[in-house]
Amino acid sequence: MSRVLIVEDEQHLAEGLRFNLAAEGYQVRLADTGEAALELLAGGSSAFDVMILDVMLPGKDGFTVISELRRAGQFIPTLILTARGHPGDVLRGFAAGADDYLAKPFELAILIARLGGLLRRREWLEARMRNVAAKPGPPDVFTFGDKSFHFGDLELRVRGQAYRLTLMEANMLSYLLQHDGKAVSRKALLEDVWGLHEDTDTRAIDNFIVRLRRYIEDEPAKPRHLLTVRGVGYRFVSSPAKDG
Ligand code: CA
Repeated sequence: MSRVLIVEDEQHLAEGLRFNLAAEGYQVRLADTGEAALELLAGGSSAFDVMILDVMLPGKDGFTVISELRRAGQFIPTLILTARGHPGDVLRGFAAGADDYLAKPFELAILIARLGGLLRRREWLEARMRNVAAKPGPPDVFTFGDKSFHFGDLELRVRGQAYRLTLMEANMLSYLLQHDGKAVSRKALLEDVWGLHEDTDTRAIDNFIVRLRRYIEDEPAKPRHLLTVRGVGYRFVSSPAKDG
């Protein structure tokens, strides 16, 4: 039985979700503030399998809650509920560490499908980690310069430092690595990585690039691997020329 934590201050909506998710076989716990959710998740416990997180909350908002959790090394798969599906909000949520999003008002069936998707990705990831641990031999690793990205555990290793990426950061980095040396447009990133079909406000994706650069560039302001392609988007280069 999967355990879901619902963080939602609208009591009516929270109770409705509790009822419907319980009917789907979920074990449900409600929290009506971000602070209450942080308390329930403190200590990195694995008391929950997945979290539904409202953005507009009294006190700490959903963006703050998710970024505090990620900073504390708590990687519970999280779907944020945004008031509008505005790409800026959605990307802000992903940049803060969310794994998926749904705009209000939403269809219950879609929410249940998205939760199922998050749980499957988590199971797949755990199975992959077990495989990597069980089988000696080369795990799924992409190496560039003195850095390596370990797909199995979503870890970026840079000279002895390991950074655990969120699912979405890992998806975005994987996408860029797969297109090594080729320019990819912001629109392609939005559509292929996030599944967003919007052609406005794609500049919001730049915040996400800033975040990845902090992990992979020695000097984030002078990127050598993750380059800006003016008027297009970005290009990942695994082996930049020695003198650029
Ligand atoms: Ca709310």
